[in-house]
Amino acid sequence: MKETPIPPRHPRAESLQVRERLVQYFKSGVVADAGLFAHGRGEAFDYLLGERTRRNALKAMKAAAAALLTAKHPVISVNGNAAALAAKDLVNLAQVTGAKIEVNLFYRSSERERAIKALLEKAGAKQVLGVGTAASATIPEIGSERRRVDPEGVLVADVVLVPLEDGDRTEALVRMAKKVIAIDLNPLSRTAQFATVTIVDNIVRAVPALVKTAEELGKEEQGKLDTILANFSNKRSLTEAINLINQRLSELAQKGRYISISQKGEK
Ligand code: ATP
Ligand code: MG
Repeated sequence: MKETPIPPRHPRAESLQVRERLVQYFKSGVVADAGLFAHGRGEAFDYLLGERTRRNALKAMKAAAAALLTAKHPVISVNGNAAALAAKDLVNLAQVTGAKIEVNLFYRSSERERAIKALLEKAGAKQVLGVGTAASATIPEIGSERRRVDPEGVLVADVVLVPLEDGDRTEALVRMAKKVIAIDLNPLSRTAQFATVTIVDNIVRAVPALVKTAEELGKEEQGKLDTILANFSNKRSLTEAINLINQRLSELAQKGRYISISQKGEK
């Protein structure tokens, strides 16, 4: 896909490349218009977190990997933004953890479902659940098309990974007694608050790191994985994430102006 060139030395080069990618996938029908706004909200929190994976997120990844590896029916729920930003890594994660992949859209349309399925298959997915009539089951407590799920996937899952999910659906999944793993840059979102394990990080960085963590923990005994999960507290983890933002803002507030224009010849 052709992307507009972004000068590599631009201070926000990576973030702009990601944005450009989303715009391209919006044009090709993978990403919904509302997905662009959702990304903007995430970006703002990434800015506040310093645009890097923090130790807190790495700890949450261990708990997430332990939950996926010990699950009976782990499912990775994929929407347009997740597919556009991390298709290959999500497919790798499914392979490493034995999870199924299901398309789950807030704004369902059969064209978008098919476009996402095609993208996931191009990235190596052998099976993609939740597309078309396959999403024949419903989850209680949420309205209209948003409640449709695959009876072989999310409906029977004990652990569901929801990168970039909406709060209503996260709440419904938790009420159905599923362990929910969220990837969400906003520790204040309802999804982040309701989930069993919240990884407060950008999906672009979090999924490859989660694959590595799952590969490492995949060699461990079940007992060790159970302990990692039992010792994890999402309440504590969210406190750490909110504190990170708090501390960073306090430090920057001390400085006031913390970026200056470099003189000619300076690096
Ligand atoms: P909630 O419904 O959970 O309260 P919300 O309504 O504020 O959240 P939604 O649009 O429903 O937001 O969900 C999108 C979520 O995904 C936001 O919390 C946003 O911070 C997060 N997000 C967007 N882009 C990324 C990204 N690249 N990586 C991680 N998180 C992201
Ligand atoms: Mg929402």
